[in-house]
Amino acid sequence: MAKRLSYSAGELLRQGLRKEPNWPKLWRDQEPRRSYDVVVVGAGGHGLAAAYYLAKLHGADRVAVLEKGWLGGGATARNTTVVRSNYFYPESAKFYDFSLSLWKGLSKELNYNVMFSPRGMWMLSHDRHGDEMLRRSVNAMLLNNVQAEYHKGDAVRSRIPHLNPAPRFPIWSGVLQPDAGTARHDAVAWGYARAADALGVDIIQGCEVTGFDVSGSSVTGVRTNKGPIASEKVVLSVAGHTPELARLAGIEIPAITYCLQAFVTEPVKPFLDTVVLSPATGVYLSQSDKGEMVIGGGLDLFPSYAQRGSPEAHMRAAAGVIELFPSLSRLRFLRQWAGVLDVVHDSSPILGLTDVKGFYLNCGWGTGGFKATPAGGFCLAATITEDRPHPLIKPFGLERFTTGAMIDEAAASGIAH
Ligand code: FAD
Repeated sequence: MAKRLSYSAGELLRQGLRKEPNWPKLWRDQEPRRSYDVVVVGAGGHGLAAAYYLAKLHGADRVAVLEKGWLGGGATARNTTVVRSNYFYPESAKFYDFSLSLWKGLSKELNYNVMFSPRGMWMLSHDRHGDEMLRRSVNAMLLNNVQAEYHKGDAVRSRIPHLNPAPRFPIWSGVLQPDAGTARHDAVAWGYARAADALGVDIIQGCEVTGFDVSGSSVTGVRTNKGPIASEKVVLSVAGHTPELARLAGIEIPAITYCLQAFVTEPVKPFLDTVVLSPATGVYLSQSDKGEMVIGGGLDLFPSYAQRGSPEAHMRAAAGVIELFPSLSRLRFLRQWAGVLDVVHDSSPILGLTDVKGFYLNCGWGTGGFKATPAGGFCLAATITEDRPHPLIKPFGLERFTTGAMIDEAAASGIAH
């Protein structure tokens, strides 16, 4: 029998042939105290960012982030990492462009490389109707002071050389947001967590919130699998789990939970140096630093909490990618996965105060909340501290569902983002 020459690090550790490296931990393992000034539920990017800015900018020193699973293991770790601000409405453009400005300095702010890569993002049109939508989009972007360039098909193809030149879906035109791009999703969660921990925030993993204590119309604490924790300020930052959890505090959230899937291929040499999104073929893609093609599409068509991939989404994604880049047709898919998201019918987030005093929301991000992580956390921290909405998030309050002042961004990408 052939002698085995290679062993995994885990096997070597188990056999005592390798020692656990003595690297400093990025954050401490904490047990919950019995009370905090602020409890953040959910250690995704948004919850961690809110905790970080609370401690850093508002001097909060008794903040806990409670996470039922592991830190960053929700939609934050499952997203396709596109960061952009090419929205239609001034309220969204202002908010997402502020987020983009925070992304530009985030590695320095956290002293942690979040690998923000402003490689530009193209939206493509393939016919006259798509072109009209793109013209509308570029006009809105320019009016909103967002960087934008409109290019005809030939110019698009000269910038993205592998795009299919003789297709069923001709490249009619494209809009480029030159300062959009990607970032490393895990690093964002880890960077915020490490920086928040260093400022004294308690991050408690494996701690599931199972209910809320409400006295009169004010929140007084949370119930968890590690016992009750008192707090007069509670932030719900749990993405796809928002409706079910908010209901436990007596708050109805007009969001429905859907899954969104993503895919990566085996790695190849540098092939695509930008992000490409094509609403008509139903896909968007970029290339990771490892060389994998990172591919996303639209939401699953039925509500679900199952974080599972499906063959039909896989087939749709492959078909769309091959329409755009036939030279990728022989690549093998390496992984496929899904994340659960809280989707609101105007495709805008829900941020700010609720009718329960001290109970704040950071939710409704649907398919596009990764790009909002820095601004979501920043604005929510100010909102919690002053107990009134930060001006940038005021239009995104829960009350818009009664006033009717919706911000309908459903067309901002055509698919997910
Ligand atoms: P999450 O990261 O999901 O964090 C919520 C946390 O709450 C989870 O860790 C969960 O375990 C925890 N939690 C839930 N219930 C409880 C409880 N009872 N007690 C304690 N903790 C609890 N956005 C973009 O901007 N660009 C993209 O390219 C993009 N692509 C995407 C692709 C896919 C496949 C998916 C799934 C999403 C994508 N998104 C994208 C959306 C983005 O990932 C989310 O909007 C964003 O990450 C939400 O962050 P979050 O911190 O609110 O939620």
